[in-house]
Amino acid sequence: MNLLKNKRKNLTKKNQRIKIDFSNCDRCGTCVSVCGADVITLAAQLHIDNKKCVLCQKCVTVCPFGALAAVEEEFI
Ligand code: SF4
Ligand code: SF4
Repeated sequence: MNLLKNKRKNLTKKNQRIKIDFSNCDRCGTCVSVCGADVITLAAQLHIDNKKCVLCQKCVTVCPFGALAAVEEEFI
């Protein structure tokens, strides 16, 4: 759990977003169900509409596989 919490950051800059690690994503859909902004979709692969994402990081917290992380754009 501490590992997952460490992926949360204080997102204040416009150049920050949620990054998906597709090698760890199990396509369980947990993040889709908790996203209040309804910007995560699970089709051929998981997708986050970062233009509409409000950076609440609920998805980062609930992902049981640690596949989501808050990152700065220059590190993607
Ligand atoms: S909660 Fe994690 S493992 Fe499940 S679909 Fe979302 S990113 Fe993938
Ligand atoms: S950070 Fe919040 S708004 Fe953005 S995709 Fe995750 S749960 Fe949805």
